[in-house]
Amino acid sequence: MSKKLILVIEDEEDILALIHFNLIKAGLRVECATTGEEGYKKARDYKPDLILLDLMLPGMDGLEVCNRLRQAPETKDCPIIMLTAKGEEHDIVKGLELGADDYITKPFSPQVLLARVRAVMRRRTQPDNQPDQGSPIEIHDLYIHPGRNKVVAAGETVELTLSEFKILTLLATRPGWVFNRTQIIDAVHSEGYAVTDRAVDVQIVGLRKKLGSCGEYIETVRGIGYRFKE
Ligand code: CA
Repeated sequence: MSKKLILVIEDEEDILALIHFNLIKAGLRVECATTGEEGYKKARDYKPDLILLDLMLPGMDGLEVCNRLRQAPETKDCPIIMLTAKGEEHDIVKGLELGADDYITKPFSPQVLLARVRAVMRRRTQPDNQPDQGSPIEIHDLYIHPGRNKVVAAGETVELTLSEFKILTLLATRPGWVFNRTQIIDAVHSEGYAVTDRAVDVQIVGLRKKLGSCGEYIETVRGIGYRFKE
C-alpha cells in the first residue's frame, strides 16, 4: 500500500518543521505550504489523503481555504484537521460547520497530532460507522434496537437523536470500557454535526435525562471521559 500523503498548510516555520518531522517519522509523506493560496493550489494538484490546515494564515485565511476546498470537486471529500490557537473557539465552530473534520489546539504534542491524524483517516476509510445492524444490545434493564434511534429503558420506549443513539451504542457495546471525548466525537461525527468536547458533555447530559433511571449507567470518568456501568 502506498504511503499516505499529508498536506500541511502552516505559515509558522517552527511548527511546520515539527509537524513535518513527526509525520515523516511516522511513515507518512508530507507536502508543505505556507500560505492559503499555495495550500489550496497544492491540495487540488496533489489530492492528499489528509490536510492539516492552520486557521491564522496571511492572505487567504484557513476558514476561506477550508470553504474553497469543500467547494472544489477534487478536494470536497479530503479530510481536514484545523490547527488552531487558544481563543479561536468561534473560528473552530465555523470551520466545523464549513466541513472540517476535527481540530487540534496549539501547542500540541506529536502524539496528539498523530493520534488525531490516524483517527480522522480511519474514520474516512470506514464511512460505514453506523450503529451495528446486527443483534440488539440488552444490558441491565436497557434494550437497544440495532439501527434504530430507539431504546427501551426500564420498560419505557425512549426516542433518541442520532448522536445520542450513537453515543449510547458506543458505550453500551463495551461496558466498563472508558471512552475519551475524542473517541466519542469519532463515533458521532459522520452526520456532519459540529462536535466539540463541550458538545459531547451536553449530549451526555441530554441522554442521561432521557434514559431516566437508566441514565445512571453512563458514568463520568473524571478528566477522561465516560463509560457504561458494568
Ligand atoms: Ca498561523
